Amino acid sequence: MAPDTETDLHQRSRWHDPALPLRIGVSTCLLGEAVRYDKGHAKNRFVTDTLSRWFDFVPVCPEVEVGMGIPRPTIRLVEREGEVRLVAPSTGEDFTDVMAAYAEKKVTQLQKLDLDGYILKSRSPSCGMERIKVYLENGMPAQTSDSGMFAAALKRQWPALPLEEEGRLNDHRLRENFIERVFCRNRWRGLVAKGLSRRSLVEFHTAHKLLLLAHNEAAYRRMGKLVGSAGTIPDQDLFQQYELEFQSALNTKATVRRHVNVLQHAMGHLKNKLQSRQKREILTAIQDFADGILPLIVPMTLMRYNIRHFDVEYLMGQLYFDPHPKELMLRNHA
Ligand code: SF4
Repeated sequence: MAPDTETDLHQRSRWHDPALPLRIGVSTCLLGEAVRYDKGHAKNRFVTDTLSRWFDFVPVCPEVEVGMGIPRPTIRLVEREGEVRLVAPSTGEDFTDVMAAYAEKKVTQLQKLDLDGYILKSRSPSCGMERIKVYLENGMPAQTSDSGMFAAALKRQWPALPLEEEGRLNDHRLRENFIERVFCRNRWRGLVAKGLSRRSLVEFHTAHKLLLLAHNEAAYRRMGKLVGSAGTIPDQDLFQQYELEFQSALNTKATVRRHVNVLQHAMGHLKNKLQSRQKREILTAIQDFADGILPLIVPMTLMRYNIRHFDVEYLMGQLYFDPHPKELMLRNHA
């Protein structure tokens, strides 16, 4: 008998373990906490009002945690004798060493909490993910830019962790990409928690096939080879490499062209069940999405309905059709 709910359709319960809450690190000031240098905050409503319904937050303010106090002098990245240092220009105090030691230890602690992702405050010399201005000693901007010091440690020590800046979350595609990566990491964590085996890895890889193809087909094929190499390399290495490849593949932005390819591929599994009018309706919606007339949610919804109606087993197992809760409406604008 065909399943009758969206949840049944895409086996959310199988891959989303309700006992494993979604947990993300976040720059404390984004939650509205007055921890900035001027006793202000940088509350982000998408984080506090929307994501808070789905995620548990682990707030981190590196500058407060290294003891810089509130309020405090502003700090910046300064190029000094070939190195980038974290300095308070008004006092000349150099926080590089204390921040580096703190960041290394803090990231190790966060790894023990097994986060699913991290949202960083942009334009901060501590938290900024990229393009943070570096200055020369004379106060002029240098030619280079860098990551904030804490963000750099996160990237270096935890390359598989989905990271994003709050400003970039205003871009619908980047937002969907980040949330998708967070849910993917949570599913991966669930798999590991249950005891990762080669068989479960094959099933996981299969369930994410269309989703991965929408991002990076070459990476999907590489990961397939990796899964196929089970037994020839130590399991731990295999799982570690897979996770890295998995997150790195998802980090490639899904494009309209790739989505269209995936939808057409999925149609190959559905079309024999459809009458010509239904087929035409879906193909027109796919074309309209390709032409930018309709959002992804439209062909997706039509296909989901038919997959459920005709009980197409292969597509029912594909997380591409259900990578995150529909209430987040992430594909309504994509
Ligand atoms: S950007 Fe980072 S260091 Fe600065 S106030 Fe926010 S959380 Fe603290």
